[in-house]
Amino acid sequence: MTTARASGIGRKLTVSHMVSSAIALLLACGAFVVWEYAMYKSALRNTIATQAQIVGANATSALLFADAKSAGETLAALRAEPAIERAYIYDRWGAVFAQYAREGAQPARDAPAAEPGGERFETSRMVLTRDIVSEGEKVGRICLYAGLDGLHRRLLEYLRITALVLMVACLTALFTSRRLQRGISKPILELARAAETISATQDYSIRVKLESHDELGLLGEHFNAMLEQTSRHTHELMRLNEELAAAKEISRHTHELMRLNQELAAAKEIAESATRLKSQFLANMSHEIRTPMNGILGMTELALDTDLKPEQRELLSVVKTSGESLLTILNDILDFSKIEAGKMGLDSIPFRIRDVLGDTVRILAIRAEEKGLELIFRVAPDVPALVAGDPNRLRQILSNLIGNAVKFTTAGEVVVSVERCAGRQEGTLAFEVRDTGIGIPAAQQEHIFEAFVQADGSITRQHGGTGLGLAISSQLVGMMGGHLDVVSAAGEGSAFRFTGRFELLHEESQAALDPAMRGVPILVVEDNQTSRALIAELLRTWEAVPVLAEGSEAAAALLEKASAEGHPFRLLLLDGSLPGDAAFRLAAAASRHPGLAGEIVVMLGALELPQKSSVFRSQNISLQLTKPVLTGPLQDIVRKAL
Ligand code: ADP
Repeated sequence: MTTARASGIGRKLTVSHMVSSAIALLLACGAFVVWEYAMYKSALRNTIATQAQIVGANATSALLFADAKSAGETLAALRAEPAIERAYIYDRWGAVFAQYAREGAQPARDAPAAEPGGERFETSRMVLTRDIVSEGEKVGRICLYAGLDGLHRRLLEYLRITALVLMVACLTALFTSRRLQRGISKPILELARAAETISATQDYSIRVKLESHDELGLLGEHFNAMLEQTSRHTHELMRLNEELAAAKEISRHTHELMRLNQELAAAKEIAESATRLKSQFLANMSHEIRTPMNGILGMTELALDTDLKPEQRELLSVVKTSGESLLTILNDILDFSKIEAGKMGLDSIPFRIRDVLGDTVRILAIRAEEKGLELIFRVAPDVPALVAGDPNRLRQILSNLIGNAVKFTTAGEVVVSVERCAGRQEGTLAFEVRDTGIGIPAAQQEHIFEAFVQADGSITRQHGGTGLGLAISSQLVGMMGGHLDVVSAAGEGSAFRFTGRFELLHEESQAALDPAMRGVPILVVEDNQTSRALIAELLRTWEAVPVLAEGSEAAAALLEKASAEGHPFRLLLLDGSLPGDAAFRLAAAASRHPGLAGEIVVMLGALELPQKSSVFRSQNISLQLTKPVLTGPLQDIVRKAL
């Protein structure tokens, strides 16, 4: 197809080449013929005019003498000029005086009348008329008729030559245009072929190679540049298409994700409401079970108060302890379900924080004492006296943490401390329960706050528990605007810390300074270092002057030294549970020499108190303080002693 079209262009080029050559040639020939025609006519006119003049001059005398014969002979001399066909001489009155006709020429039937001067061209002849003048007077007129055959012949000849030249020129043009055309149509053909291939294959990397340095070469260059651009645009388009496809895919995924999210949210809502329902049910159930449980416990206690055989008492005691632990579990479940169901609310009532914490610690101190642990309680001096909040829930959290600390510690101490958070919101208190127990492996630490999770099944199984305590405590701490966390390492003890927000009602944080205590030297004998430091801190807040001793020997030496120096101690604060009977012996020695220590206060654990109390009392030592040492009782008893 491309070839056919290209040959069409070739034919058009040849035809236009030939037509333009022919037109140019025809124009040239036409101009030449016209010029030749004009020249011929002008030459003919001159020749005939000369003949007319000569013949006219020769015929003058014949006219003057009316010699027609001589005039006829003069005219006959015109035979020498073949173009002249006929000639007439008229006399001065316009009548034909003599005439001549060339041999073979048709003589006019009637001689024409004398024409006015000048010349005139007709289709096949020229008519020239001149006056014959003698001595300035017109004596007659001569009229010559010259045929235009010669001109016609010549024109015909020219036509023939023109036709021949035209033919030769056309053939030459045909030949040359064929050759030239190859230089034009070949590159066009190449361009057309390239375009056809590109449109069929969409391969824009094809390029045409045109060696000509003319417009076609330029066309080829532009064609290549256009291909380059098209190729670039095509690539760009493909890239955009790919991006569009990717965007479509992303949008599809996003929609899918949104749909899944919605489904998830719906499923979550259903699950949450199911959990709430379950918790509600659990709360109702445990509440319902608690009532008969309390009945069982009450009745068991009543039964235990009656006269029973020893084995009956033992059996009933087991029923009581089992009932109590069941009640604890029930309480835990009830609390947990209440929190889960969103039914747990916190009170906001005023309470003396030292009392609430002291009571809690004291209850748990018995268990600690049973295990031989030192339970130490420290409230920082800047903790306010009266706050508003939920004392029962605070007690619950601390009981759980201290209970755990005691439960998971076999030797050492459990230190409970409270201080006011500096830089935090007003009324934020920080609590810490630190023990020297088994500790919690790092991997377990994040899970122990989940419900029903226990760090080490084998160990905790020995101690019982539900795994709910920390979950409940953590939620309660959250409700108090704080956070519960743990710092621990296996075998190195644990420290549970939490903060809680309380409304400050009474800023006064500690008992007013007592002038009676100011500067009073007091000897503190306590084998537990933490406890010793704590008692010293408390005494210092009242501006007393504590001196510390770890054991009875050091204490005795200090007592002696102070007495010798004349500044005996006014008070001896003695830990009644020093190893062996060290405490008793020191107390006895001191009481025998009242100059050594003015007064003696013995600190005893709640369990040992009943038994040891009388022993000390027998030595006239009646001032006794229950451990753990709390601020209020310590202040009271020191004041009383002094
Ligand atoms: P449980 O009723 O079992 O005590 P908790 O929620 O109070 O439930 O405690 C969860 C688990 O965390 C315990 O079983 C124990 O493994 C670990 N744990 C809690 N407190 C301590 C601690 N002071 N020392 C070591 N482990 C602890």
